[in-house]
Amino acid sequence: MADCRKTLLVVEDNPINMKLIRCVLSLHDYRILEARDAETGIELAHRHRPDLILMDIKLPGMDGLSATAIIRRNPDLSGVPIVAVTSYAMLGDAERAIKAGCTEYMTKPINTRTLVNTVGRLLKTAGLKIGSAPKARVCQLGSAG
Ligand code: MN
Repeated sequence: MADCRKTLLVVEDNPINMKLIRCVLSLHDYRILEARDAETGIELAHRHRPDLILMDIKLPGMDGLSATAIIRRNPDLSGVPIVAVTSYAMLGDAERAIKAGCTEYMTKPINTRTLVNTVGRLLKTAGLKIGSAPKARVCQLGSAG
């Protein structure tokens, strides 16, 4: 598969939010992988090593923070930007998200411009700035674009 596009993994259980994210990001020619629960998200992350992950916090079953912590244990994924997506009402989530290994967080309802800007910025700096991942690799060959 000769595909040079950046791959984004979106973990989101709400179909309307998923559709919105897909529509907006597709305009920017990203390849998008979708998971509706944490378990699928973890599996896709390990298998495809996306360039960035959007992680909904509230998911059926395992939540997005636990999934983030598990993804971070994979040395190949320790540097991938993970953006926690959390309801604005759950402000305490932000701090917990960073502690769990998320690079930063975004609040719902999703602002499409913020989404595009955040994704673009993090993809640019991926490999240079690793967020709070403790054992981070500086650069991931092949995904640096
Ligand atoms: Mn949710």
